[in-house]
Amino acid sequence: MSQQTSGNNRCLSGLGMASLLILSVLASGCTGRTALSATSPPTATSVGTTNPTPTSASPSVGDVLVPRPAIVWKPIPFPQSRKQEMLAYAQEHYGLDTFSLVQPQVIVEHFTANDEFGPVFNTFAADVPHLGELPGTCAHFVIDSDGTIYQLVSLDLMCRHTVGLNYTAIGIEMVGESDQDILGNPPQLAAALNLTLWLMQQFEIPLRDVIGHNESLTSPFHQELVPSFRCQTHQDWSHEDMEVFREDLAQLATTFGVPLGPAATPVDSGC
Ligand SMILES: [Zn+2]
Repeated sequence: MSQQTSGNNRCLSGLGMASLLILSVLASGCTGRTALSATSPPTATSVGTTNPTPTSASPSVGDVLVPRPAIVWKPIPFPQSRKQEMLAYAQEHYGLDTFSLVQPQVIVEHFTANDEFGPVFNTFAADVPHLGELPGTCAHFVIDSDGTIYQLVSLDLMCRHTVGLNYTAIGIEMVGESDQDILGNPPQLAAALNLTLWLMQQFEIPLRDVIGHNESLTSPFHQELVPSFRCQTHQDWSHEDMEVFREDLAQLATTFGVPLGPAATPVDSGC
């Protein structure tokens, strides 16, 4: 089922502002790890009548506003019943009496371990128990292999994507069989970097708190009250590959004057 998508190994400009900057930042990719595709990123698409993105967060950080990437608003059902399930989960796992995501402090990068957006959407929409509990899993964003960014959940709602961090983390899934797939897929990588940097600026999240799911246990923000969940994590986005992703992200952040913040201080998970 593995299907690695890739560009056509050409590096050229002519894309949008953010993509131009991505191109310049990742220029080394033309001779190094990744060659950028000539494929244009997806054009802007309606995000629907509901505003899925924050309007209150002040983009005060950075010298230049990071352009909001094109985002397709494609919400999964999140009715009152699912909010109540999220509330019960937050009470049990975090001791919090809310289903709201307030001023998120972490961005978690994932990959889907498949090669199609449709089944991912259906899985997140289904709201079926995971690890024996509701609500079902979800992610705020899913980036398809062609670089299309879908937003499935409003950023003011907790979404169950990373044990120990759902109370404060935005989840970004990327369609692909591995993190190497995404690092080798220029349009998808560019979309992921653009989206992540935009979120970093919107919420003033430092680089060190942009992590892979597999790094969740050593995040200083990791909190889990249920002992059987305390050491639970997934293999998606290894530390090694996140170091590559963060290096690209740091270069892009520097281009926009977005502060990187202090060095990472991973904690001992005890797991
Ligand atoms: Zn994951």
